[in-house]
Amino acid sequence: MKRDLMEILACPICKGDLDLEVTEENDEIKEGVLRCVKCDLEYPIEDGIPNMLPPELRT
Ligand SMILES: [Zn+2]
Repeated sequence: MKRDLMEILACPICKGDLDLEVTEENDEIKEGVLRCVKCDLEYPIEDGIPNMLPPELRT
């Protein structure tokens, strides 16, 4: 995902802002974690795709 995407992403539960923690990046973010600053839920970024599903809906 591109860093620009951070501007439109929000927590799907509470619509809060997300903190970005990048573990792998070249021209785009490949791996990392988005963490909600309000409800503290985490959304993984895997292969450049942010998984914005609420944790209870992940398979
Ligand atoms: Zn939240």
